Amino acid sequence: MSKKFAPIIIANWKMNGLLLDSMQKFKQIRNNIQEGLVGCEIVICPPFTLLRDMAEKIPGTGVKLGGQNCHHEGNGAFTGEISANMLKDMICEYVILGHSERRTNLNEGSELVNKKATISHNEGLSTIICVGETMYERNNELAKVVIREQVLHSLPQSSNINNTIIAYEPVWAIGTGETPTLEQIEEMHDYIEDVVASELPKFGGNVRVIYGGSINSKNSAAILNIKNVAGLLVGRASLDVDEFWRIIETVS
Ligand code: PEP
Repeated sequence: MSKKFAPIIIANWKMNGLLLDSMQKFKQIRNNIQEGLVGCEIVICPPFTLLRDMAEKIPGTGVKLGGQNCHHEGNGAFTGEISANMLKDMICEYVILGHSERRTNLNEGSELVNKKATISHNEGLSTIICVGETMYERNNELAKVVIREQVLHSLPQSSNINNTIIAYEPVWAIGTGETPTLEQIEEMHDYIEDVVASELPKFGGNVRVIYGGSINSKNSAAILNIKNVAGLLVGRASLDVDEFWRIIETVS
């Protein structure tokens, strides 16, 4: 099915990978790209410790780099943090913000995500802003209320179609092996598109909404085939290069 944008497939490696092994994986991905046609944009978001080595090897590959988070201030006394301009310095083009693991484990709310997105946009990074409901919220008819709140409060004034992707990631689907039905994904993507179209005029009625949560090579084709799924955010399956590549081939 033809879509408005080329699909984007984003690998979120989370807190996984030491240097040698990860660079080997990256080499394998680069080799795969050289051998075949790739029908999508590929973004890898490795742990920060790998960014420099990957940045050195990335020019000319067609792969883009992303950070998994950044701080909401530009620089200063924030021990252990990383700034948007440091990501930019490592030739990152993207940053994931508002991932449910950070919203839940680190109590990061939409207002903080909004500040992080503002500084990321100022640095020229594109933001991948994650939203998603828990199973409790879905079972209690609160999914759309929560998603609406997260979309409207997490996306800053600076957001537009060129610098923002929304990742719909139901919390109950992340790392669980469970996925929503195709109808549930389509319904929620429709809803997010409607919220953006009616409340965020800067998008001009266009928004890229990608899906994340227990994607693998068996379910990726059907999910990518949904009319309003603009790409995939892949966690666990992206750590296995062969499996990740089978997912990429879904759109090649
Ligand atoms: C994620 O955490 O963004 C994710 C999609 O994880 P998984 O694919 O492992 O469910």
